[in-house]
Amino acid sequence: MLNLKTLFTLGYGLYIVSSVSKDGKINGLIANSVAQVTAEPIRIAVTLNKESLTHEYIQQTGLICVQPLTESADLIFIGNFGFRSGRGFDKFAKMPYKLSKEGLPIVTVNTSSYLTLKVISKVDLETHTMFICSLEEAELLDNSCPPMTYAYYHHDLKGKTPKGAVTYQKEEITKKGEKKMKYVCNVCGYVYDEELGDPEHGIPAGTAWKDVKEDWVCPVCGVGKDQFNAEN
Ligand code: FE
Repeated sequence: MLNLKTLFTLGYGLYIVSSVSKDGKINGLIANSVAQVTAEPIRIAVTLNKESLTHEYIQQTGLICVQPLTESADLIFIGNFGFRSGRGFDKFAKMPYKLSKEGLPIVTVNTSSYLTLKVISKVDLETHTMFICSLEEAELLDNSCPPMTYAYYHHDLKGKTPKGAVTYQKEEITKKGEKKMKYVCNVCGYVYDEELGDPEHGIPAGTAWKDVKEDWVCPVCGVGKDQFNAEN
């Protein structure tokens, strides 16, 4: 018996994990794979997909900033970090942040704290690397909002799991009939509602899906219309 649904019963938090390259460029992503693994000395494990730009930067400098998300973060905020690569998109362009003394970006909204880490060893996990880190600096930002758990993200925010995440499982994509009013992004879970349109991006309320221009992209994760399916 190997019921993979058991994996969804494991509990996680959600974190912004960021790094800085050797020439001072910054990037970050959303990960659930952060854990304190020992107390004395304090060691924190961060596991990232090798294909991510943040992974590349960590390999260059050995520096990581981890920030727990709070429930105040919405899907647009999470999508900014979580579903597209920093290779073609500046994730910090519209983000309020400051820099640590090592040049790590510290986001100042929707997060309870920041921890800056230094990599002291690595475990190769084929698709991912686990970075074992020492804790260099840690400070509380805003502890008034509860931390966002992975369960909250899935059940309350209706968020999806991006392909690079350690917990990704292939999802079934269902085909639906023609007269549907809502279309769901297969990548991030954003819902295009024909009633509401996407006025912020030039699609007036009431625009039928077929009339949404072909170069329109998901406002959360940036994929095209071909990645959407009609909702049940
Ligand atoms: Fe999307």
